Amino acid sequence: MKIHEYQAKELLRRFGVPTPEGKVATTVEEAVKIGKDLDTLPVVVKAQIHAGGRGKGGGVKVCRTLDEVQHWAGQILGMNLVTHQTGPEGQSVKRLLVEQGVAIDKELYVGLTLDRDTKRVTLMASSEGGTEIEEVAAATPEKIQRASIDPAVGLMAYQVRDVWFGMGLEPKLVGKATKMCMALYKAFIATDASIVEINPLIITKDGDLLALDAKMNFDDNALFRQADVVSFRDLDEEDPKEIEAKVYDLSYIALEGNVGCMVNGAGLAMATMDIIKHCGGQPANFLDVGGGANAEKVKAAFSIILRDPEVKAVLVNIFGGIMKCDVIAEGVIQAAKEIELNVPVVVRLEGTNVELGKKMLNESGLALISADDMLDAAKKVVAAAQGN
Ligand code: GDP
Ligand code: MN
Repeated sequence: MKIHEYQAKELLRRFGVPTPEGKVATTVEEAVKIGKDLDTLPVVVKAQIHAGGRGKGGGVKVCRTLDEVQHWAGQILGMNLVTHQTGPEGQSVKRLLVEQGVAIDKELYVGLTLDRDTKRVTLMASSEGGTEIEEVAAATPEKIQRASIDPAVGLMAYQVRDVWFGMGLEPKLVGKATKMCMALYKAFIATDASIVEINPLIITKDGDLLALDAKMNFDDNALFRQADVVSFRDLDEEDPKEIEAKVYDLSYIALEGNVGCMVNGAGLAMATMDIIKHCGGQPANFLDVGGGANAEKVKAAFSIILRDPEVKAVLVNIFGGIMKCDVIAEGVIQAAKEIELNVPVVVRLEGTNVELGKKMLNESGLALISADDMLDAAKKVVAAAQGN
């Protein structure tokens, strides 16, 4: 799960991470009022969307007067902000962070993330803040310092000092940076985060350290014990199809292709996506209806898949084990009755009650294309999606 910058800053402040002062606004009037109340100029107006690269996309403006706050708040609120992380379709801006502007001496980078190679949380820091860390890693990897954290003892102050001294930071700032990193780590662990990224972490002209930007992602599997984090959820930023899938406890991930996939079991779902690609097609989604699905769940899954306007054909690929083929058939039939089925549907059923399932589909009067095995099914659905 992702949250907004202003929410990440609020969380991090609770753990003692220094940030500029600011508040969130949803209207131009609110933005101007916050700017006035801050009582310092300049004021920075920042688009709040669940994606980075806002500065380059025109979503971050430093304002020298309250008139400029009014002007830029009006421009940014409601704009469709396109950044390298939103993709070409962009994301509509519904909230602004209005924040005290600070005089920047230098922009640094610090992040905590899970390193899958070492299976440990890793602290990463760089003297090159403000730019994408991926770019720094590719062009000048020597400018990134890392510390691997032993989960038994947690982040140790000497590790952080090593990192910052290695970066050439002045001794008096190393103390402040160490304090901040220890606070970031505490926040990371306490909130079950998967990423905490401060880019840029700035040295101000007054010689202070501040988190000027903040990004936090969280482990969805830990949300049951993170009520505070869940309260930050912004459904406006999430794919409505994925939200509905969660209601029905379906594992659904929207993708870019045009072949809708309804599959039971994560492994089979992955194999289905692979074989669609192998046959020259592109999956429109990952979907695992799960082992214990009933007809209602199958119906919901079907309607979620069909709501994606890119979907030109659907492949139902079920191996009936705990999930019986006739239950799937019933769900498909119910869904087809209620939703207008305007794309070809290829069905491959195998396993428990397969004969009954096939019989039900045959007798339903629905125009379904049946397939004998996975390869046959994939070939048929790819051809159907291409209009053949
Ligand atoms: P991002 O582009 O989505 O990563 O948004 P950031 O919050 O990182 O802002 C982008 C850039 O705007 C920063 O790297 C800064 O250079 C600049 N910026 C943001 N806030 C301030 C501020 O208070 N003062 C100044 N001078 N620049 C700022
Ligand atoms: Mn940033």
